[in-house]
Amino acid sequence: MDEHKFLGRILYGRVIFVVLTIAIPLVVALAKHPYEYFTDFCSIGERAPGTPGHIQARDFIILNIENPEVDSFSVLGTSYYNIYKRYEGQGPRIGLAVHWDSDIGCPGANDGGSGVSVLLSLADTLARHRPPRAVDLLFFDGEDVEKAELLGSQHFAASCVDNYDFVIVLDMVGDKNLQIFQEGNSAKFFPEFVDSIWQIGMSVAPDVFVPIVKYYIVDDHMSLIKYGIRSIDVIDFDYPYWDTKDDTIDKCSRESLDVIYRFVLQVVYHRSNY
Ligand SMILES: [Zn+2]
Repeated sequence: MDEHKFLGRILYGRVIFVVLTIAIPLVVALAKHPYEYFTDFCSIGERAPGTPGHIQARDFIILNIENPEVDSFSVLGTSYYNIYKRYEGQGPRIGLAVHWDSDIGCPGANDGGSGVSVLLSLADTLARHRPPRAVDLLFFDGEDVEKAELLGSQHFAASCVDNYDFVIVLDMVGDKNLQIFQEGNSAKFFPEFVDSIWQIGMSVAPDVFVPIVKYYIVDDHMSLIKYGIRSIDVIDFDYPYWDTKDDTIDKCSRESLDVIYRFVLQVVYHRSNY
């Protein structure tokens, strides 16, 4: 290769690097911040299946994503709606999942609302800047029915034919005093994967992600694990307002949602192998 071509390639590589360095923060900045989605979504209040708030919340998510898939199903006469948004890229596909319903009589701001708001901001960013690998955003319904029936994730997993590399579930990630210990079932099934994901978390917020198991929790990841999908739960379970009428917007913060948003951006854009 002559010197000019060689220098040209170096220059070309640098230009690409500089463009990406500027472009990603720019598209992230153009996305609506999770806290804006959070306050709008949670102002709906209770979203228990069968209530008017449930339908309002479903429509809020659908309205804020371009052409999502809506997968509806019915259990004992109640209608449920899983909502999916898929982005093409190199395989194998990864997934980020939340639940969007709430328990009966609970506003579910942190429990459900926090994860939804992070994924809606991520959808804004993914629409403007395609991910290097295929990504699915999964909004499950019916998680909180009868203390974690996990109806939406069961429905999804039972009919899932995609070959996921992994699916990370986000739940209760908006607490003002955010501290995320490793979840016991996730660490039991996938210890190395959990460690590598916590490494990413600690690189974003070393005071938030703690690489120690504290609780064992039955959440949507258990449905996916049951059907052979590598899945883990990212959850802050030290939250006194969990499943009460006091799980409201004021218990959560913009800063906490911002940490989780930056964490998922790292997972989606900057790391390829785990
Ligand atoms: Zn939850």
